[in-house]
Amino acid sequence: MNIAHWLERAAQRTPDALALLRGALPEADYAEFGRRAAALARWLVEDLGVAPGDRVGLFLKNRTEYLEALYAIWWAGAVAAPINAKLVASEAAFIVEDTEAKIVFVDDTVDLAHAAFEGRTIDVLCDPFRRARDGVAMAAPLARAPDDLAWLFYTSGTTGRPKGVMLSHANLMAMTYSYLADVDAVTGECATIYAAPMSHGAGLYNFVFVLKGARHVVPASGGFEALEVLQLAERVGEASLFAAPTMVKRMVQAARSGNRTGEGLRLVVYGGGPMYLADIKEALQVLGPRFAQIYGQGETPMTITALPRDAHRLDAGPEGDRRLASVGQAHSVVQVRVAAADGTELPAGEAGEVQVKGLTVMSGYWRRPEATAETLAHGWLRTGDVGRFDDEGYLTLTDRTKDVIISGGSNIYPREVEEVLLTCPGVREAAVVGAPDPEWGEVVCAVLVADAGGPDDATLDRHCVAHMARFKRPKRYLRVAELPKNNYGKVLKTSLRDLVRGDAAQA
Ligand code: AMP
Repeated sequence: MNIAHWLERAAQRTPDALALLRGALPEADYAEFGRRAAALARWLVEDLGVAPGDRVGLFLKNRTEYLEALYAIWWAGAVAAPINAKLVASEAAFIVEDTEAKIVFVDDTVDLAHAAFEGRTIDVLCDPFRRARDGVAMAAPLARAPDDLAWLFYTSGTTGRPKGVMLSHANLMAMTYSYLADVDAVTGECATIYAAPMSHGAGLYNFVFVLKGARHVVPASGGFEALEVLQLAERVGEASLFAAPTMVKRMVQAARSGNRTGEGLRLVVYGGGPMYLADIKEALQVLGPRFAQIYGQGETPMTITALPRDAHRLDAGPEGDRRLASVGQAHSVVQVRVAAADGTELPAGEAGEVQVKGLTVMSGYWRRPEATAETLAHGWLRTGDVGRFDDEGYLTLTDRTKDVIISGGSNIYPREVEEVLLTCPGVREAAVVGAPDPEWGEVVCAVLVADAGGPDDATLDRHCVAHMARFKRPKRYLRVAELPKNNYGKVLKTSLRDLVRGDAAQA
């Protein structure tokens, strides 16, 4: 069973239903969406030599062509490897080379200045793509087994090198059912707005909306602008979107200042990073009961726990607040447990690592047997998150074992930033930690040991922007005579966090 069958069927069942919209403007109905994907698939297979199981990259910002290309890839039996459009060429090239992508779909917004892209890019805004899209269609999606690879989802690792999470057609289908069962019973009348990057969590929502023959709306800006999203929801109606906590905050501010109430918004699904209780309460006050929370990670996409709309109440007293501060209860398709360091399961009330087993859990990291063995220990996915269950099965996250920084919903791995800083002349040592921030959740702070007369903040900033995606660069630099270290010479990140917090308090 190929997940592209869902598009094929939606095109047969509701050919005239609106499928793709750019802003509020209709671009294609389901018959057309299906036909375009099938025509592009034929092109991939017959003219470009893509064989079942081959990887095809997607390095472009949110646009309706993203969905056409995605479904063409699956229709052709190939594997989609989305790449965050904000990455610089060398970062994206790593993924292209790691996946050995045969073709990479791109647009005119991304950085392609790297040899890895030569001869394998297809610009979705250029003639060959447009002509192929209007060409002869391939009859039906190529047959795939449920466990065949569908999506390689790149997530940065603590080692600094991103790893490809292997997700099968069956994983993605189970994820979709779980959304319908535990988060929202989407219908054909609904719409999803892609306000967050489609290469990441937001892209995964497409399956629910294709299965139901519902509308896919890509904001005209191609990104997230709070006011634009609120206005779009008003125009298209019954709209859902995935939003990181930072985005929810911006939407609330935009709604407040424009006297908007969230009309047309069916559901804002937030997640990807911690939501503060005060912030979700404010969001409920301003926009009403239009929120649900998801806790997941690339390795078990969207599906660890969910806190549905009906748990988002302002009148449920301290008990209700406790739930609101949790990440909800386990999704239908997975088992979730909290385990001690030795792997034994802990009872409710005790904190330990959150571990997951079930239908959505990845089969492993692409060509990384050691990292796979470490993360999928004894049949359980080790999330690296620390949490505790209460007696009713609500999970509250308390910490992370991995020292990833989550800023505005994006994961930033300190090691990656440290490695870039260390290549800047005059920097001797660098350690990167997150500091709490009311707007972004966390911001990246770098603590440096530098030569006398070493680089100033502006030089460091320029260096970072040249070598990695902008969102990863430090927002603050602190200079110290030496980094705090333990007896083994390991940098004490906890002391550093205290240091940057103290520094912020004095500022
Ligand atoms: P990613 O693999 O990029 O989706 O990041 C997954 C990580 O984001 C998880 O392991 C958590 O640390 C964090 N995360 C995801 N959803 C939530 C949530 N609802 N609340 C708090 N943290 C979350």
